Amino acid sequence: MKVLVLNCGSSSLKYQLIDSDTEAVLAKGLCERIGIDGSCISHQPVGGEKVKEEADMPDHTAAVKMVIEKLTDEKAGVISSLEEIGAVGHRVVHGGEDFSEAVVIDEAVIHAIEGCSDLAPLHNPANLIGIRSCQAIMPGVPMVAVFDTAFHQTMPKKAYLYGLPYEYYRKYKIRRYGFHGTSHDFVSKRAAQILGKDRKDLKIIVCHLGNGASVSAVKYGESVDTSMGLTPLEGLIMGTRSGDMDPAILSFLAEKEGLDAAQVIEICNKKSGVLGLSDGASSDFRDLVLAAEEGNEQAGHALEAYAYRVGKYIGAYAAAMNGVDVIAFTAGVGENNAEVRAMVAQYIGYLGTNIDPERNRIRGEEVILSDEGAKVVTMVVPTNEELAIARETVRLTKKS
Ligand code: AMP
Repeated sequence: MKVLVLNCGSSSLKYQLIDSDTEAVLAKGLCERIGIDGSCISHQPVGGEKVKEEADMPDHTAAVKMVIEKLTDEKAGVISSLEEIGAVGHRVVHGGEDFSEAVVIDEAVIHAIEGCSDLAPLHNPANLIGIRSCQAIMPGVPMVAVFDTAFHQTMPKKAYLYGLPYEYYRKYKIRRYGFHGTSHDFVSKRAAQILGKDRKDLKIIVCHLGNGASVSAVKYGESVDTSMGLTPLEGLIMGTRSGDMDPAILSFLAEKEGLDAAQVIEICNKKSGVLGLSDGASSDFRDLVLAAEEGNEQAGHALEAYAYRVGKYIGAYAAAMNGVDVIAFTAGVGENNAEVRAMVAQYIGYLGTNIDPERNRIRGEEVILSDEGAKVVTMVVPTNEELAIARETVRLTKKS
């Protein structure tokens, strides 16, 4: 079966068409500036030539139509008609407490996703627009929602509750939900597979280090803690997000700079992290490593603070699980950035593991980084959220 995997943002739409029998990607692409002047589509048939062109996309329905047009195009296409698409898998950011696993989309599910929009006001409405657009263009094609939060629904209360009056949890469901769940699930499963072990026998710490970043503690196959919270702002220092900080800073900064709460949160989301710490040098880790090598001290400090926070979370999650067997690095930085991994290595030796400098040179591949016989295995496991979404989509639509 051919599965269309969609990830809709407020003005963008990322897609992949995956052949679920071979798990090969047939084509992928990105629609940008949807609803804004100058909207364009980049379409890449795998093995073929990438096309990028301006295309009028006043809304997401037009963008989905454009994707179908490209997928069935005589030159750049990979299928002959829309009928070849057997199912659609949608990445949905927030499933709240309603969804602890992926589900086949029906009206009740759409209603429940709408109900979670309060918790992810920038993301869930965009995801819903993508779902509605597909319903309009491909009526009858089964669709599945795969939630970023679902894998972390196994967290115990002691991990997900904040130290706030309990009534706010009761009234507003304020709690830690966690994100990147599809990736933490995929990577922890794959790590166990690579080691020839059952995930149910392992304590795994997954470090998903991308532009957005989070760490999770996966104990015997279940997420028991994760660093992102009610929103993706909590936890690690990220590309542009601050991560953990004293909440009193918010009102302090608002008063000093004459800002309202939304403006301060915008700074914490968009202007902080390694971008802010490096005094605006970059949010991209390649640039930062280069800048630090060329003597930019702030870039160096940003990288040190970043790696230190990752190291602290690894320590915390080893404690949370009363031990750890595997530490797995994944996502853009975790898979590719040897310098950052080497910096994190400073904080994991006491656990009985290391990062071998030779093996650490390998980029973007599955590799065991620690020495043979190390008590804890440290490894790189590339993530593949689209494939995970396609697998879930097939699993659920074959049953239904
Ligand atoms: P992601 O959000 O997972 O796409 O990760 C984006 C981050 O990964 C950026 O900061 C990139 O600098 C980093 N990254 C991606 N590819 C490489 C690479 N080949 N070497 C070093 N860093 C990389």
